[in-house]
Amino acid sequence: MPEFPEVETIRRQLLAKIKNKKIKSVEVKLARMINVPVASFEKIVAGATIKDIHRRAKILIIDLSNGFSILVHLKMTGQLIYDGKEGTGKPHIIYTFSDGSQLKHYDFRLFGYAKLVETREVEKILTKEKFGPEILDRSFTLEVFKNLLAQKPKAKIKPLLMDQTFIAGVGNIYSQEVCFCAKILPTRIVATLTEEEIKNLCRCLKKILTAALEHKGSSVDSYVDVGGEKGTYVPRLKVYGREGEPCVGCRGKVKTIKLAGRGTSFCEACQK
Ligand SMILES: [Zn+2]
Repeated sequence: MPEFPEVETIRRQLLAKIKNKKIKSVEVKLARMINVPVASFEKIVAGATIKDIHRRAKILIIDLSNGFSILVHLKMTGQLIYDGKEGTGKPHIIYTFSDGSQLKHYDFRLFGYAKLVETREVEKILTKEKFGPEILDRSFTLEVFKNLLAQKPKAKIKPLLMDQTFIAGVGNIYSQEVCFCAKILPTRIVATLTEEEIKNLCRCLKKILTAALEHKGSSVDSYVDVGGEKGTYVPRLKVYGREGEPCVGCRGKVKTIKLAGRGTSFCEACQK
């Protein structure tokens, strides 16, 4: 499922492709993907120009020229493909621009959405989600991270990294990679982390997310970028999806457990 590197890749590519383009028409083929009646969505969106595209946590915010914004969450299997290859399944929303190009929103498992809201309401909606800080923001410092951890002494580190109200944008893939990078077991209780380990976690969060973004994310599932192409980070994943394989650090076996309901891989020898 798309996490920060994947959603940010899509945002950057979309911005380059569709900023300032005028939407000639939009066709919603599945009403449950949106939050307003199909006719209203189609009527309001048609004729507007794409003004800007932001991201907060894993949500894309597409600002239109008419005072409305479309909030897109790709959840598990969402895909936004611009004039590229076909996506998985059938497109549920098709935006046609005045130059004839199209942006198609696919989501074969239907967990995601496209919500049409007034732009002036966006801040309020996002505030309600209580998202934690963005890892690659300059304001996310070791001090900030330490203070956040101090509020969650009893939490296990890996599920905590995935908690969007703790920090934003990290999910099941990169939380495992960050723990491996920092040589910390995913089950470690926050209160037992040393200063050095916290420093490593903070460094690894920034390092892993930056590297994954540079590779346009990980296509472990149905994730593809705006051109319909897979991200290229998968061969660089050290523990995620590598159950039973030799650890890249010590050649021991990568172990997988269920942690807070999610499959979690790690190396018992390399991680403490
Ligand atoms: Zn190892």
